[in-house]
Amino acid sequence: MKDTNKHKGLRNQLVKIIEEKGIVDKNVLKAISNVPRHLFMDSGFAHFAYQDKPFPIAANQTISQPYTVAFQTELLHVKPNYKILEIGTGSGYQTAILIEMGAKVFTIERQNELFKKTKLFLPKIGYNPKKIIFGDGYKGLPEFAPFDGIVVTAGAPFVPSPLLAQLKIGGRLVIPVGEETQTMTLFIRTGAKDFEKHELGKFRFVPLLKKKN
Ligand code: SAH
Repeated sequence: MKDTNKHKGLRNQLVKIIEEKGIVDKNVLKAISNVPRHLFMDSGFAHFAYQDKPFPIAANQTISQPYTVAFQTELLHVKPNYKILEIGTGSGYQTAILIEMGAKVFTIERQNELFKKTKLFLPKIGYNPKKIIFGDGYKGLPEFAPFDGIVVTAGAPFVPSPLLAQLKIGGRLVIPVGEETQTMTLFIRTGAKDFEKHELGKFRFVPLLKKKN
C-alpha cells in the first residue's frame, strides 16, 4: 500500500476541481489533499481514485464522490476534538477525512463484510476512529451522545428522530433525504426542541437500509 508523489499530484488536481465546484473550507480541502483515496478502493478501480466520481466497493455499496464528501463535511463545521457520528462507514474514506480534521469519529455500518474490512484497514494506514460499530444507523448511538455533528452517507427515506435527539445544542445533522434522489438537508439544533432546517441541493446516494436480522 503505497502513496507516491504521483498520487499526491493527482490529489492536488482533485482539490482544484472540488474548489471550482464551490468548496471553500480550507480545512476540508487540506483533508482531501492528505487522504490517499486510492487505498480505499478495490484494486480494479484504484487508478480512477482521483476522478471526482463515486465507485463500487464491497457489498454492492459505493465510495462517495469526493465533491459530495467535501460538501457534507463543509456543512458539519468540524473543529478539532468535535465528536462526530457517521452513519455508513463504507470504505472509511469519509471517516478518514473527519479524522484528518481532528474529529473524534464514531461510525456505524450495517454490512458486516464492509464493517470487518474497514475496521481492520483504517488503523493500518494510521486512522483510528473512536468507535466503529456494526449496527443500525437509524438508531444513532445513544450511549455516546450528544454529538457536535452527525453525517449520514446514505439516502434516508425520512429523517430518523434519534439522530436529531442525539445532537448537542448548536450541533449539526447533515443528511440526504429522499428515495430516488435526495435533497441534502442540514439541521442545526438551536434549542432543546428547536431545529433550523436548510435544503441544499440534489444528490444521489445508495439507500439507508434497515438493519438485517
Ligand atoms: N462513507 C462511505 C459511504 C459508503 S455508501 C464512504 O466514504 O465510503 C453508504 C454506506 O451506508 C454503505 O456502506 C451502506 O452499507 C451503509 N448503510 C446503509 N444503511 C445503513 C444503516 N441503516 N446503518 C448503517 N450503515 C448503513
